[in-house]
Amino acid sequence: MAKKFGISAVIIVILLAIGVWQRHRILIPLATSGERIMPREEANLPADGKPFGEEAYFYVVQLDAQTFAITEPYAWPRNVNYLIAGSERAMLLDAGVGFYDIRPVVKKLTDLPVTFIPSHLHYDHTGQGGYERIALVDLPHLRVRADGDEFTPNWGEHLGVAEGIAPTKWKIDEWIKPGSEIDLGQRKLTLHYTPGHTDNSISLLDKAANIMFTGDFMSAGRINAHYPTSSMGDYLQSAQKILKATMENPDISLRGAHAGKDGQLPRKSRGDIEILRDQLVKIKEGALNSTGSYPRLYAIKEDVVMQAEPRWLQDWSPTYPDKSLSEN
Ligand SMILES: [Zn+2]
Repeated sequence: MAKKFGISAVIIVILLAIGVWQRHRILIPLATSGERIMPREEANLPADGKPFGEEAYFYVVQLDAQTFAITEPYAWPRNVNYLIAGSERAMLLDAGVGFYDIRPVVKKLTDLPVTFIPSHLHYDHTGQGGYERIALVDLPHLRVRADGDEFTPNWGEHLGVAEGIAPTKWKIDEWIKPGSEIDLGQRKLTLHYTPGHTDNSISLLDKAANIMFTGDFMSAGRINAHYPTSSMGDYLQSAQKILKATMENPDISLRGAHAGKDGQLPRKSRGDIEILRDQLVKIKEGALNSTGSYPRLYAIKEDVVMQAEPRWLQDWSPTYPDKSLSEN
C-alpha cells in the first residue's frame, strides 16, 4: 500500500514538473482573444486619426512632418505601428497581426524606400505579408539560427499558434547591431536593444525629435513579462539602459506599440521608466507584493500592471549582461 502510494506521488510530481516546464506551450494556445476583430461600436478611435481607405481598418495619426502612427483600432491588440521617415529612406516599425495589409497605407504615406523592422518577433508585430526590405537586430542568439540571410522566428519568439498563424521565413537585408545608428537622411535613429518583454526586443531613439519608439517594453496599461523569452533581469537592465540613453531628453515621449482601451496613442515618460526600474528592484528583493495565480500581477504604478512569472520562476540574469549599467 505504502509502495503504491509512493509510486502515485512520484507520478504526480513528474506531471506537475512537466506542466510547469511546458506552461507556455499549454497556456499560449489558450490565450487567444477568440475575437480577431472588435465590433466597430466597441472600438475607440484615436484623436486626430484619419481613416485610410474605404474599409477604414487603419487610422493614421501624424506625429510630425515625417512620423506617422498607423493604428488598427478594430484589431483586438489595438496595434500602433510607426512609419519613421527621413529624406532618403523610411523605417516601418511593426506591421500588426496582419489581419489587414499595412503596405498600401505605407505606400500612400511615403514615396521613399521603406525597410520593415519588427520591435520584436511576436506575431502581432510581424504582419503576415512580405516586405521589400527587412531589417533585424543583430544578436548572436538570432544570427546563429539564420541560414545565410534567411531567418524564421521560432515558436516561442512568434507565438502565432495562439491564432493559428505560422511564422514567415524572411530574407534579412540589414542586420543592425545594438547601439548603432540608422541614417534615414537628415534624420538619425539609434537602435537600442531593450529586452525584457522578449529577448529580441528593440527600441528606436530619435534624440533630435525627442521621441523613442519602445515596442512592447511599456505600452498602455500592461507590461507582459511572462512569455517564453521574457526575463525580469532583462527588464531591469533595459530600464536602466533607456534611462541612460535618454539622459539628455528629460521630457522625451516614449511611444509603445499598443493603444489602450480608450484607443488613444500610448505615451509614457522617462519618469515612468524610473518608477518601473525602482519597482523591478523591489520585485527582485521580494519587497513588492503580487496578486493572482498565473501570471502574477505586480502594480507598477496606478495605471500600469506587470504580468510576471511567480517569484520562484523569475529569471533575473540578463541575456547579455552590461556592467556599465547600475541598478540605481
Ligand atoms: Zn509582444
